[in-house]
This record gives sequence, structure tokens and C-alpha cells, in this order.
Amino acid sequence: MGKTIFSKIIDREIPADIVYETDNILAFRDINPQAPVHILIIPKVEIPTVREVKGSEHAALLGELFDAANELAEKEGISKEGFRLVFNCDKNGGQVVYHLHMHLLGGRQMRWPPG
Ligand code: 5GP
Repeated sequence: MGKTIFSKIIDREIPADIVYETDNILAFRDINPQAPVHILIIPKVEIPTVREVKGSEHAALLGELFDAANELAEKEGISKEGFRLVFNCDKNGGQVVYHLHMHLLGGRQMRWPPG
């Protein structure tokens, strides 16, 4: 299987507006933003979907994803008003890129149910 677009961003083969990076995590602005703030937070390790996430194996990594989301929400000024975190999984979930990613969306009122 070829590299996903997100692996290419991690390896700096294609450009992205990177806003956060640690040894394990990368975050960058979505190319097609759905809100004033729309950031994708991804683990550097390749995990295709939520279905491959295991609490026993990935607990620390998931904690780092949420730490990054909180830090970025604070930095982007959306922490106080609130924001939305989304993981899309497979076809019905609307997943397009098969490299696990958390969407951080904020800066406007979100609605429910989502489309
Ligand atoms: P999914 O639908 O898989 O949950 O979300 C994938 C997201 O990746 C979409 O919101 C899409 O706009 C974003 N995306 C796809 N290709 C690129 C890219 O090359 N660069 C960036 N920054 N975002 C991308």
C-alpha cells in the first residue's frame, strides 16, 4: 500500500501549515477548513482507522492527541467558547484519509446532528 497524504506531510514530502509537533504527534491546518479553526491532529505512527486503536497499546498516544487538542484550542483562542473534536471512521463515518486523525473545529457555533 502506498503512503497516505498525511504520511507525506509527516515526511515533509508535501507542504502543510504545521502548527504543532512533538516526537509522536503532528498537527496542521486542514486544506479545506469547515470552521474558522480547523486543525488535524495526527499520530506520526501509521494507524489507519479508529478500529485499529487499542486502549492497551495506544492509551498514552491518545492522551497526547487530547493534550495537543487542548493546547491548540487554547492557542487558537477557542478554548473558552468551546470546540468540537471529531474522528471519522470508514465509509459511513465519512473518512477520506486512512491515517488516524482528530479534527479540531472551532470559532463558530456547531450544530447537531452533523450531516
Ligand atoms: P476525513 O474525511 O478523512 O476525516 O478528513 C480528511 C481531511 O483531510 C479533510 O478535512 C481534508 O480537507 C483534509 N485534507 C486532505 N488532503 C489534505 C492535504 O493535502 N493537506 C491538508 N492540510 N489537509 C488535507
